[in-house]
Amino acid sequence: MAAEIRLDVALVHYPVVNRKNEIIGSAVTNLDLHDIARAGRTFGVNTYWVVTPYRRQQELARQITDHWTEGYGGTANPDRAGALSLIRIQPGLDGVIAAMSEAGGTPPLVIATSADRCTNSMTYAGLQRELKRGTHVLLLFGTAWGLAPELVQKVNAVLPPIQGVGEFNHLSVRSAVSIILDRLLGNREGEYTL
Ligand code: SAM
Repeated sequence: MAAEIRLDVALVHYPVVNRKNEIIGSAVTNLDLHDIARAGRTFGVNTYWVVTPYRRQQELARQITDHWTEGYGGTANPDRAGALSLIRIQPGLDGVIAAMSEAGGTPPLVIATSADRCTNSMTYAGLQRELKRGTHVLLLFGTAWGLAPELVQKVNAVLPPIQGVGEFNHLSVRSAVSIILDRLLGNREGEYTL
């Protein structure tokens, strides 16, 4: 019998890089909260961690989440409440890993994503095997121009970049999350049978 899938996703707002590859902190956006929560609920993600060290940004994320879970938004749109209820806010990744380690009994396998190819790569099939074995996985997504190199060097592995048909490769993080979650956990029944 297949083990229970235990996948969390984290949207990292610091440390990320800007166009000049300088380390910056980015702002939380309403769209990222809603769209990634909806994708997470669709594909069975356990927790959507919103990671920002900035207090005002944490408050903003909490206000939006509270409105759509406990406030009027949650009453008017229970489906959306079900999605945003996945959100937990943390100042840093250390807190996310500590919380997951406590809940899961062991530290999670931490996997990063990037539009650039990285050396410590793990295939989608390899990560699917880990998930099917019941390994607790934390999947990191960046903002701005991507996760800071100092962070990518510390993770267990990086998934290969999503590639289109040409040189253009500037997906939004929301699009990348949906594509990657579908590749890992999407139901393929009947899709490829002729
Ligand atoms: N050039 C940046 C990079 O290499 O990640 C693009 C940053 S993009 C606006 C924000 C986040 O979306 C990335 O940190 C990554 O998590 C995800 N992402 C964007 N394009 C991706 C791709 N082609 N493959 C995998 N993840 C991607």
